[in-house]
Amino acid sequence: MAVTQLPPMALAAVSDDDGAAQGILRRQALRESAARTYARALPIVPVRARGMTVEGADGRRYLDCLSGAGALALGHNHPVVLDAIRAVLDAEAPLQVLDLATPVKDAFTDELFATLPSGLAARARVRFCGPAGTDAVEAALKLVRTATGRDGLLAFSGAYHGMTAGALAASGGAPSSGVTRLPYPYDYRCPFGVGGEHGAELSARWTEKLLDDPKGGVTDPAGMILEPVQGEGGVIPAPDGWLRRMRDITAARSIPLIADEVQTGVGRTGALWAVDHSGVVPDVMVLSKAIGGGLPLAAVVYREDLDVWPPGAHAGTFRGNQLAMAAGAATLAYVRENNLAERAATVGARMLDRLRQFATGRAWIGDVRGRGLMIGLELVAPDAGSGASGVNPGEGARRVGPHGESAGAQGDGLGAELGGGAWYAGATRTGAPPADPALAAAVQQECLRRGLIVELGGRHSAVIRLLPPLTITDEQTEAVLDRLTDALDAAVRTTGTRSRELPPTAAPFVPPLAGDHR
Ligand code: PMP
Repeated sequence: MAVTQLPPMALAAVSDDDGAAQGILRRQALRESAARTYARALPIVPVRARGMTVEGADGRRYLDCLSGAGALALGHNHPVVLDAIRAVLDAEAPLQVLDLATPVKDAFTDELFATLPSGLAARARVRFCGPAGTDAVEAALKLVRTATGRDGLLAFSGAYHGMTAGALAASGGAPSSGVTRLPYPYDYRCPFGVGGEHGAELSARWTEKLLDDPKGGVTDPAGMILEPVQGEGGVIPAPDGWLRRMRDITAARSIPLIADEVQTGVGRTGALWAVDHSGVVPDVMVLSKAIGGGLPLAAVVYREDLDVWPPGAHAGTFRGNQLAMAAGAATLAYVRENNLAERAATVGARMLDRLRQFATGRAWIGDVRGRGLMIGLELVAPDAGSGASGVNPGEGARRVGPHGESAGAQGDGLGAELGGGAWYAGATRTGAPPADPALAAAVQQECLRRGLIVELGGRHSAVIRLLPPLTITDEQTEAVLDRLTDALDAAVRTTGTRSRELPPTAAPFVPPLAGDHR
């Protein structure tokens, strides 16, 4: 298997050299913006990477569950990706072509259309955008505004769509005029206090009633944008039934439905696209991250009758990244041919199962959730006085299933209010302890000490996020679980006690392995 190709000089300068690594980190802190993010919590200087393993300049190796924020479906430097990139270079194909037609782009588009939900692919147009996910979000918002002549937007609490103005406005972090913020079905912290699919149905009802209320204060919406599984918001899978309700609600009102699959796409959630789980066909799909095989690429795909832009209406220089298209086509084909979405579903379910077992008796692990290889553990302060009202998600019985469904609890009476024919099973979740970001940060550091890279997310940065590559082996899966569970207990020991008692069997910390688990 190929390894990262680094110039010999660069390697010689940093390889196995802790001093050099420290120097680079020091210079980064002096020269780069205070806005830097991952670099603060992960003081690593990566010099080599292969598959799931990243090697730092100090010689330490890490299992990478961050995967370039989900951009590396096949892990680092997968041979099919490297071969595809080399083929473009060896052919001396032009690398910068604006939006001209090329064989590389033609092949990428073939592969993309072959994987898209067939109901969309049959009548779709694609517009390549600037290279980031946020660019594709901007394009989608602009497109539906042009097509509908309306200006408002329906978006969800906890959403993350990017950092440029329009995408930021659609995200949950800041109030924005013209954006109507709707409740996302966040089971663990259900805004209606019931959780499960029952809570999700209440959120659908809220949406429906608000849209039809002439005094609801909704700016006439050009579209509804949603993530089928909220990623940065804390790994929150929407129930399939809720997604179908959003489809019905928007279709009935001629509001284009935009699925932001920037993070959930390319097999990540156990289906090629997360909307596939529900059978929902969106009007617009926003794609980036893994579609470029780890290189910058973004596209918006939409129903052809929305293709109202006149020539030049959405232009830009960098929308023809040939290396990214080649890497992306190779990635999409490899995921499809090797059934990696199914593999993500299987491995993800096993990980969720193991982590839920581990969470039993550890009340500070409030919730374990996810879909496919998009997994989150929400850490909480169980004794911090939250109105948890006896619902202890650490007990296991109330844990939701991998698809956000409730674990079989019965409806509590609100179901009757919603009328007959509802698709939800009902649930009784009534509250959750406050999030514990300090504990989550400590877990991230303990993971790093054990050679494991994890991300933090969620409303309060209290969710440990795992986004391993879809190629993760069984051995690597075990290593991730061992290191993570060890780190969770270690963090509790180091951050004080409160009510975070460990079960009596908790093993003491074993120093990190010298080798790696490729
Ligand atoms: N949408 C979603 C769902 C995302 O998760 C992200 C990035 N995390 C974006 C959009 C923005 O992508 P980018 O960072 O490439 O601009």
